[in-house]
Amino acid sequence: MVEKRSSTPESQGTELVPVTSVRSLKELLDRVTGREISSSSLSEESGIAEAIPFPFLALVGQREMKLALLLALINPAIGGVLLVGPRGTGKTTAVRSLVDLLPMIPRSLCYYGCMPEDIESGGIDAVCPDCAKKYAQGDPLTKPDKVRLVELPLNARLEDVIGGIDERAVVNERFQLRRGLLAQADRNILYVDEVNLLSDEVVDALLDAASQGSYSVRRGAVSATYWSRFVFIGSMNPEEGRLRPQIQDRFGLRVIVHGLAELEERKEAYRRVHSYLTNRRITVTEFITETEIARQEIQTARSLIGQVILPDEIARYGLDLIGRIGIDSLRAEITLFEAARAHAAADARTAVTIDDIRAVTLMSLRLRRSSFISNYFEKQNSEDEEILQIQERVLSPGNKTEG
Ligand SMILES: [Zn+2]
Repeated sequence: MVEKRSSTPESQGTELVPVTSVRSLKELLDRVTGREISSSSLSEESGIAEAIPFPFLALVGQREMKLALLLALINPAIGGVLLVGPRGTGKTTAVRSLVDLLPMIPRSLCYYGCMPEDIESGGIDAVCPDCAKKYAQGDPLTKPDKVRLVELPLNARLEDVIGGIDERAVVNERFQLRRGLLAQADRNILYVDEVNLLSDEVVDALLDAASQGSYSVRRGAVSATYWSRFVFIGSMNPEEGRLRPQIQDRFGLRVIVHGLAELEERKEAYRRVHSYLTNRRITVTEFITETEIARQEIQTARSLIGQVILPDEIARYGLDLIGRIGIDSLRAEITLFEAARAHAAADARTAVTIDDIRAVTLMSLRLRRSSFISNYFEKQNSEDEEILQIQERVLSPGNKTEG
């Protein structure tokens, strides 16, 4: 899709100005060799390009995917988002584009990620000696920082994920361990593309950390516990393999991402992607005002979320719905209600309505029923009945034991 600008003299012929108007030899050389073009495209391709994600607000269509991602940012209690769909539908682009919308949070100034709350919960020994000294002197341990997007690559080893022995830092026996990706994801977004292809041991470590909000690493006599409270976002192409039920259950919202169906939408999407690939800065600038407004609205909704209440009659409606659909996992109502609260907060309201529930029902409740489990329960029920019937027969007065 990247449009390459050809640098052959022939194709540049129309762009070249007559030699007489060129002011210097260098200018001429730059034009003829196409260096002006290649130097600008070089800077686009280098690390800088990574810092300029496609603007979230420039994504065409995909309303449900965008809504799910925004709700997950507003309320981390939703439990993250799973995006399911074929390749080329913008899943990864959408996740990476969230970076510009993320609010500020307090961030540890220390390599080990020490936080004031570690001292509050575990005493002064819960932080490294440097931070203990700072804390005693009344110096801050944190500074405001933007939430980050931490990507867990498919080839990550268990040691990269949970951390391991750190040769370069021998400050104190307890702090000889290097923080892994899961610790770096604390208070951030942890994104796993092709989450269905992750190795089992990495998935197990992830599930542990996700359920506890922290995890421990032990290497010989050295051990450490790290915070690991992250918004978990995964994407997968169902053609490439199934997702283990345990990990699928961990995701709050589930979005089925289809390709754009409308011709006009596809045209507009192509136009925006093309303009982004041609000049990232210009595309980002076009959306900069809306992006900033959206970022502030997310921050405001985040600060409101604690006040949003779920009225009893709305909760009853949600539970009735889940019961009739036949979902066993308690995570269904956690996600349904927390997503509805985020939806209300996004609308600057402090009470959930039926419309908030309706807006998030599909993304909260789909892919939660298991035909294996319902068949299993059915079989189990008939076995239980059989056992009870036999018991009745055995206990009946006319029964004679057969020899
Ligand atoms: Zn520290």
